[in-house]
Amino acid sequence: MSGLQVEGLKKHFTIGGGFLGGKARTVRAVENVSLSVAPGSSVGLVGESGCGKSTASRAILRLEEPTAGRVTFDGIDVASASPAEMRRLRQRMQFIFQDPYASLNSRRSIRRTLEEPLKVHGIGDPAERRARAEAILSEVGLPRDAMDRFPHEFSGGQRQRIGIARALVLEPDLVVADEPVSALDVSVQAQILRLLDDLREKRTLSFLFVSHDLGVIRHFCDTTCVMYLGHVVESGPTQEIMDDPAHPYTVLLRQSSPIPDPANRVDPPRIAGETPSPANPPSGCPFHTRCPRAMAECRESMPAAKEIAPGRQVACHLF
Ligand code: SF4
Repeated sequence: MSGLQVEGLKKHFTIGGGFLGGKARTVRAVENVSLSVAPGSSVGLVGESGCGKSTASRAILRLEEPTAGRVTFDGIDVASASPAEMRRLRQRMQFIFQDPYASLNSRRSIRRTLEEPLKVHGIGDPAERRARAEAILSEVGLPRDAMDRFPHEFSGGQRQRIGIARALVLEPDLVVADEPVSALDVSVQAQILRLLDDLREKRTLSFLFVSHDLGVIRHFCDTTCVMYLGHVVESGPTQEIMDDPAHPYTVLLRQSSPIPDPANRVDPPRIAGETPSPANPPSGCPFHTRCPRAMAECRESMPAAKEIAPGRQVACHLF
């Protein structure tokens, strides 16, 4: 199958134990994530802070080693790819980080930041690499003289443009963007989203877009996967999920997201209760400790994902 396929992805960490003392515990950051990103489509991974969405995105690109599950890209199993296949996959799948400053090497000029990946992948001669780096810098809206400057000389929005240029200079097919606008001012967020929109259209890119912000996901993604405590609890076409959320968590998340119309702005209700620790997750449905519709069954058994409409899946005993 073409595009990205993720099946049953898990990522667990061990904390405590060793010379720090205490009992070693397993943090189940990502417990069950399955999704697919077809060529040219944009899939959103959304949920509250700590739901595992960023860890999942990193495990998909093997920036963190997954504990279990299968990730394929255009049919190639990422875990068993040969070194040559992996090099090619790394070129085709790129990552945009939330904090562009932390992800850019402060001692590297922008020229080196953009030309180095081309060199590592054996693309072009020095003149070609220079031309390609200058072209992508101009495409993300930065002047040519930015090439010989350093990350600290730019604003947050400009640094994110550089992060985007670095991701795109290798001409990938898929971009995994982890909260790419959440560290920016609202006005700058809109500019960066417009830039990503333009680039996606021009280059026929696929996106896996991670965000806690339903407004950003609604704007950018054709399909949405809602995550809670390491699980995808609902997935389907973005418009349907936003207009008619099905899973009780998605309903509350939708109600608690800010209303964009300033004339009707009211304080949105918060989802009651704290998210349980992924080091001590509840039995049964992971959402039962906060769910207003929980039943006895919810405490005992984990609901399986069911298709409630074409392309729409919900993991809840109510369906
Ligand atoms: Fe709520 Fe039960 Fe559905 Fe979980 S399975 S979301 S606790 S109703």
